Amino acid sequence: MMYRTDSSGSKRVTLIPGDGIGPEVTQATRRIIDASGVKIAWEVREAGAAVFRRGQPSGVPQETIESIQETLVALKGPLETPVGFGEKSANVTLRKLFETYGNLRPVRELPGVPTPYAGRGIDLIVVRENVEDLYAGIEHMQTPGVAQCLKVMSRKGCEKIVRLAFEVARSEGRRSVHCATKANIMKLTEGLMKRTFEEVSKEYPDIEANHIIIDNCAHQLARAPEQFEVIVTSNMNGDILSDLTSGLTGGLGFAPGANIGNEVSIFEAVHGSAPKHAGKDNANPTAVLLSGVMMLRHLGEAAAADKIEHALLATLEDGTYTRDVSQIGCVGTSAFADAIIARFGRKPKKSTVRDRRALVLPALRADRDFVRAKTRRTLGADVFVEASVSADEVGKALDSAVEGSPLRLKMISNRGTKVYASAGALPDCVDCWRCRFVARDATAHVDDKLVQDLLSRVASRFPWMHVEKLMEFDGVAGFTKAQGED
Ligand code: NAP
Repeated sequence: MMYRTDSSGSKRVTLIPGDGIGPEVTQATRRIIDASGVKIAWEVREAGAAVFRRGQPSGVPQETIESIQETLVALKGPLETPVGFGEKSANVTLRKLFETYGNLRPVRELPGVPTPYAGRGIDLIVVRENVEDLYAGIEHMQTPGVAQCLKVMSRKGCEKIVRLAFEVARSEGRRSVHCATKANIMKLTEGLMKRTFEEVSKEYPDIEANHIIIDNCAHQLARAPEQFEVIVTSNMNGDILSDLTSGLTGGLGFAPGANIGNEVSIFEAVHGSAPKHAGKDNANPTAVLLSGVMMLRHLGEAAAADKIEHALLATLEDGTYTRDVSQIGCVGTSAFADAIIARFGRKPKKSTVRDRRALVLPALRADRDFVRAKTRRTLGADVFVEASVSADEVGKALDSAVEGSPLRLKMISNRGTKVYASAGALPDCVDCWRCRFVARDATAHVDDKLVQDLLSRVASRFPWMHVEKLMEFDGVAGFTKAQGED
C-alpha cells in the first residue's frame, strides 16, 4: 500500500474536515486515532462549500490536491454538493482526480444498535466501481426538453473493480462474491461487467462467484441480507445499494468507506454533511472513525486499527450511543469519542474483529487500448435529430434525403422504441429522434466521407445534435437494437 512518512517516522495523512457535521466527526476521529498511540502527521486541508463560495467551481483548491499528491492518503469529512445545478461534486472530483477506482463500503451488525435485522449476523461489503458509469458526468441537452447522460464503462474499469472485489474477499477470508448488474437491459455496459466477472472469477476458484440482477439484489438484501458477503457493482448501482446496506445495520452514522486507487486512497464515511445537525455535537462519529480504522489497516497499522475497533465495539456493548440510535440516554459526539478512548485495551464480550491479511491491489496493464480488435468495420450511423413533427413525417423526409446515397434509413426510434417504420408501438414521442442509417450493401464499409455526406443530407431536413457510428469489432456488432427493431 502506498503512503509516506515524515522525518520523524510519522505517517502523513491529509485531513479534510469537510462541511456540516464533518468538522465534529473528523475531530472526534482524529482524537481517537491520536490517543491510540499511532503516529500520524495530519495535514489539514480544505474542500467543499467554503471553496465553492469563494468562486472555485471544482470545490477542491490546489493546496489540497498538492497535499494528497504528497501524502497519498486522505481522511475526508463529508462535502456539501450543490444539487441539480452549477458546480460538480467535490467528492466525485477528488475520487476521479486521483483515480480511486474502488469504493469499499463494509457494513456489519453492531452490538447495542437495534435494527429489524438484529441477530441475523449481517457482515458484508459493497465494492463499488468509483470512476466510470453515469458518474463520468458526461451530460448534454439534446433538445431544449431532452437531456442525456452517457453511461461509460470500460473492460479495464470492470476488470480492476472485479479483481479488487476478489482480492478483498481473499484478504478478509470471505467465501463468496456476488456481481450485481443490470446486464439483462444494458447488455453492452452492464453486460461488460457481468462478462468480465465471469472470466476473472475463474482465477479465484477458492471463492464462489454468483451473478445477480441488481433489482433482485436489492430485494434479496431486504429479505435475507445475511446471504451476502461481497457485492461488486457499477458506480450508480453501488451508490444506491450501499446506502441501502447501511440502512440495514443502523444507518448512515455507522457506514464507513474507502476509495482505493493504485497510488492514492481516500477514506470517508458513506454519509453526507447532514447540515441540520451541524454544530450541535450530536452526530455519530462511528462512520468516519471506522473509515479511519480502514485507513490505519491501509497504513500497515493493524494493531492500532484492532485496538480502536475493539474499544468501539466495547463502547456500544456497554450501551453508550449517539442520538441516531436513540434520543433517550444518548451522548454527544465528543463524549462518545471519550468513551471509546476510555475503553482502549478492552475487548468486547460478544462481538469480534474480523481476522484479515493485507489487501493485495490487483496489477493490470496500463495500456490505453486495453482491448484491441483485429478487424473493425463501420456498418452505418445513428444520427440524432431534433424535430417537432410526427415519426412518419421525420421518416419520410429522411427517406427522401438519402435517395441516391449508398446509405438507407433502417429505422427511427424515440427514447429507444422503434417508431418508424411503425411496428405498432404507441409511444408518447418527444422531439429527439434516433435515426439509424445502414449501407444498402450490407457487406460494405461505411467510410467517414459517406458519414459526412449523410450528415449534410440529414441537416438539409432537420438539425442534428449528435452522431454515433455503428461499429463492428471482430465481427461482433458494437451497438444494440432499438426496442421493436428486427
Ligand atoms: P446526509 O448528509 O448523509 O444526511 C442524511 C441523514 O442521515 C441526516 O439528516 C441524518 O438523519 C442521517 N445522518 C447522516 N450522517 C449521520 C451521522 N454521522 N450521525 C447521525 N446521523 C447521520 O445526506 P443528505 O442530507 O442527502 O446530504 C447532505 C449533503 O451532503 C448534500 O450536499 C450532499 O450532496 C452531501 N453528501 C456528501 C457525501 C460525501 O461527502 N461523501 C455523501 C453524501 C451526501 P436524521 O436527521 O434522520 O437523524
